[in-house]
Amino acid sequence: MIVPTQYEEVTQIKMNRYPEFNPGYSVCAYLVDGLLIDSGQAHIAEELTDFLKDKEVRIVVNTHYHEDHIAANALLKERYGVELLAHPLAIDRINQPATLYPYQEEVWGYPIPSQVKAIGDSVTTQHFRFEVIHTPGHCDDHICLFEKGKGWLFSGDLFVSTRPNVARPEENQWQIIASLKKAKDLMPRALFPAPRGVRVVTDPVPVLEETIHHLEDLGQRVTELNDKGLSPDEMRQQIFGDEAPLAEFTQQQFSSLNLVKSYLKERLT
Ligand SMILES: [Zn+2]
Repeated sequence: MIVPTQYEEVTQIKMNRYPEFNPGYSVCAYLVDGLLIDSGQAHIAEELTDFLKDKEVRIVVNTHYHEDHIAANALLKERYGVELLAHPLAIDRINQPATLYPYQEEVWGYPIPSQVKAIGDSVTTQHFRFEVIHTPGHCDDHICLFEKGKGWLFSGDLFVSTRPNVARPEENQWQIIASLKKAKDLMPRALFPAPRGVRVVTDPVPVLEETIHHLEDLGQRVTELNDKGLSPDEMRQQIFGDEAPLAEFTQQQFSSLNLVKSYLKERLT
């Protein structure tokens, strides 16, 4: 199911295979001035493509390679001849999507491979110019788009919540913190996130500051406990208590343990 919502010149396109069963498992794409930012999950690819039939989409930008952000690429290119763009590191991953875990297959589905081109420093549409901001951490090919005149920041999966309690294995929280700082320094007026159920944030700077502070505090706690010699599991127990319920459903792909471990990675910033 698709639910469109208008915000200024931006259309938020919320997509969910099971909207009544679990409204949390939705993902958002954004349409503005012929530019589509992310193309959703495979189970909704036909519906999204039909929805965009008369919307004159010319360019699709994928914020990163994950399967819930790229799946209508191939259909959109085939039907409407759109140009597909993503970070250079995402190109091979979108062309050859990884094997999915069962929960990913159930919730999102397998994307049809698509040939994307390397995005440059900016993307220009008829009325707007979007700066490409490299924001690694969620994964290393993650980008945001920023329209300076409007103050719009399209943040993909960079911002999920002010108090995240789970992470994926590939995340690096130090990089996420640096990327959130980069995003905050742009002084955006509106933040357009992709993840499940997160709404458009109309005063994002304080929200980003709160998130940065929380993640830095968490990092300090993990560092202190690590220095005392605790194992990742012991740290997870001390900081979060029992493992998050999402961990079991996602075969440990989203877990508090991953969040702890993501602070033990190098500070590659
Ligand atoms: Zn993602």
